Amino acid sequence: MPQDDEGNFLKSLGFPQVRVHHSLNHFDFTKPGRRILVIGPMGSGKTEYSARIWRDSRVARKKGDGVAALTTTGMADRRNVFFIRYSVDSERFTDYPPDALAYRGGYERCGDMIAQIRSSFELDALIAAHPEVGTWVVDEASFYDERIAYVMRNWSEKTGAVFIFPTLVLNFRREIFNATARLLLDTATDVFPLTAYCEHSDCIADSFYTYRYYQVDGIECPALYFDPLIIIGGDREKDDPLEPNYCTRCDLHHYMPGKEFTFFILKPLGETASRGDLAPLKRELWQIKNEREQSDLYRFFKERFLDCENPEPKNMDSLRVDCIAERALIYLFAEQNLVTADQLIRIADELRLDKDYLEKRLSDNRRPLAL
Ligand SMILES: [Zn+2]
Repeated sequence: MPQDDEGNFLKSLGFPQVRVHHSLNHFDFTKPGRRILVIGPMGSGKTEYSARIWRDSRVARKKGDGVAALTTTGMADRRNVFFIRYSVDSERFTDYPPDALAYRGGYERCGDMIAQIRSSFELDALIAAHPEVGTWVVDEASFYDERIAYVMRNWSEKTGAVFIFPTLVLNFRREIFNATARLLLDTATDVFPLTAYCEHSDCIADSFYTYRYYQVDGIECPALYFDPLIIIGGDREKDDPLEPNYCTRCDLHHYMPGKEFTFFILKPLGETASRGDLAPLKRELWQIKNEREQSDLYRFFKERFLDCENPEPKNMDSLRVDCIAERALIYLFAEQNLVTADQLIRIADELRLDKDYLEKRLSDNRRPLAL
């Protein structure tokens, strides 16, 4: 029901003038051919949302033929719901049965209507094997190859099937997570945004953003903008300055220093390197590693975050982490393609950078190098 009608309806029942919010509806199995994006940060209840669709489907399936006619297109009944999880996900919930759809605070058992897959090709196979299924819930769809967006769109257009994809859309930089997330946005017909409370201890605002930070000597240190994009294995809370933690934060408490530095100084140094002149980049990385306070990075941050009208000292804590030179170099090599593999190896040798860290993060970001 449109919001105005809803307001008039409530008023006609004798409700006073109140602010009317969207009602939290049960899932509508009658509308065919939808691609529903459910977006929200960690802790916003994306999986719980999926579990509710499962519970709604159980109620809807008990209805008679009149309802079946509304929810069925061809062979597929949209009240038949199938869950798809990304294959590494089960490691997170080892305490539950293998067929459980687990969320914070509970789980639903889905029997043979749940599967784990790794690629869009495996989704093709599942769809072909289950022509009776009309609703597919694909959890964390952004983790798959880009092709999955078109597999879902084409199948839903062809058969009226509904696809629901609860997923993260923004990364810790508050940018679109990856190319797959971009295509999911392009091909979706409906979007449900979910929010979570900001996890800052002095705040309870509705929040959308994923915040990455490190714990160094008990201090929360915001990740720098040029921190490696992908870091595999970040779920539990860690007190290791090289392993990140994540939480949900509002705009005000989502600290992410270094974006301006990245484009104003770091990337131009990479561009100079790509033209064959490695010296300026090497000098800056050497200073970051050995004479931090002489580096452009430190001077830039000091000017922006301390010596200014509205100081933001929290942002200075981002410089407490180790391996900042390594992180900058990974960014220029793996994301910007401005530094060649040979140049990276040479810099790592000459500046005695942490090769274990470099190798691990380069492999996380699918640009493995043997140093
Ligand atoms: Zn906040």
